[in-house]
Amino acid sequence: MPDTDNDTDREIYPSPWRTGWKGRCPRCGQGRLYRSFLKVADRCAVCDLELGREDAGDGAVPFLILLIGGLGVGVAMILLFGLEWPVWGVFALTLPLMALLTVIAIPKAKGVLIALQFVTRAGDTGRNSFEEE
Ligand SMILES: [Zn+2]
Repeated sequence: MPDTDNDTDREIYPSPWRTGWKGRCPRCGQGRLYRSFLKVADRCAVCDLELGREDAGDGAVPFLILLIGGLGVGVAMILLFGLEWPVWGVFALTLPLMALLTVIAIPKAKGVLIALQFVTRAGDTGRNSFEEE
């Protein structure tokens, strides 16, 4: 299969899965992606990539709803029907657990989406939205 520009570019950048998961810059993999919990930094302190142009929005939320919601319902079904827990006990365990997992996973999922956007040049114009004028 012939190499395309995108295939070549992907080899230059660090893994978007690893950099996004760690909350690091998608270009250099070293600078911090966030300046606070979910606020993306304006620029990477190491490579000066303009991170403020990211356009992930709330894109990570549907994935987390499906993953964590499905996991929570599965655990609830096991507790409720398999182990015959009372309903209040199932809610008391699964709801805080799902909330905690969501708070932990949101910055990681958003970071992965931002890094994937950068590496795949996802944008309205087909160019890298981080480097558009
Ligand atoms: Zn950087």
